[in-house]
Amino acid sequence: MIVVMEPGCSDSDVQHVVKLIRQLGLRDHVIVGTDRTVVAAIGDKRGIDKGAIETAPMVERVVPILAPYKVASREVKKEPSVVSLGVPGAAIGGTRIGVIAGPCSVENEEQILTAAHAVREAGAIGLRGGAFKPRTNPYAFQGLGEAGLKLLVKAREATGLAVVTEVMSVDQVDLVASYADVLQVGARNMQNFNLLRAVGHCPKPVLLKRGMAASLDEFLLAAEYIINAGNPDVILCERGIRTSESYVRNTLALGVVPAVKRASHLPIVVDPSHGTGHAYMVPAMCRAAIAAGADGVIVEVHPDPEHALTDGAQSITCQTFARTMKELSAVASAVGRTL
Ligand code: PEP
Ligand code: MN
Repeated sequence: MIVVMEPGCSDSDVQHVVKLIRQLGLRDHVIVGTDRTVVAAIGDKRGIDKGAIETAPMVERVVPILAPYKVASREVKKEPSVVSLGVPGAAIGGTRIGVIAGPCSVENEEQILTAAHAVREAGAIGLRGGAFKPRTNPYAFQGLGEAGLKLLVKAREATGLAVVTEVMSVDQVDLVASYADVLQVGARNMQNFNLLRAVGHCPKPVLLKRGMAASLDEFLLAAEYIINAGNPDVILCERGIRTSESYVRNTLALGVVPAVKRASHLPIVVDPSHGTGHAYMVPAMCRAAIAAGADGVIVEVHPDPEHALTDGAQSITCQTFARTMKELSAVASAVGRTL
């Protein structure tokens, strides 16, 4: 349930409510909005008398949260969240569209630095690149591991871009977090609840990719695990779902963008690279994502896609990326945003 405080309530009024919530055996989550403070009470509310809280000073009303997710829901927080990527000027959410771009995997120093400079030049705010890769085939390139993380740091030092990279397991969280600015949880791990809790304990923003067969509720409940563990900085990412279609690698479910916007305050970006599997479709689906209301895109860009070690078929060149950014700028202004 949500305890809605009266406008103008003091910090001690809020703390009093927090204390009552804890006495009832529930967990509290205080959200200070632009004109209201609300306190979410989370936990098993069977047998709890909400009247006890309703009579506390400066409490306006107590309302149930209808969605299964609580702290991720728009019922708890009306204003959209803006998540800082941890480097100056880089954020996702709000009116400015944020673009994260780079290769599927970090392959070598020249490749990642070339990609980083090119995407920075074209206006990206984040550099993607996997050092630990979740590969379907155990014989395929698995990523450079820590050496790849070190190259990403070099690229950040050279360009100022925020580094976005995947963490695949609980035991990698501290290592990856010591190099990265944003931790990516991959589609295959969206319901790895221990990993969600572990990144939730980490003071770095999380890019949470939607599982390839996950429903909207499951997606938002996964975000809820991270926020509940103490980390409010979650960026959702639609990356396509499995369907019976075969002309695409995945079906990019753009309808989830307005659905997330209605259900949650969390920002959402779209990954048209994994969402289609084909480089020629990527610019069009980037444009569509921004037109649909996404807060940004994450795109695979490779200086030499023909020789990419992973996901070359869906990687666009640096030149195509620069052209796409110009188009995105026009789409952004058409929908009242900037790039
Ligand atoms: C990736 O971003 O390279 C990746 C493996 O993505 P996903 O988890 O969406 O498949
Ligand atoms: Mn990839």
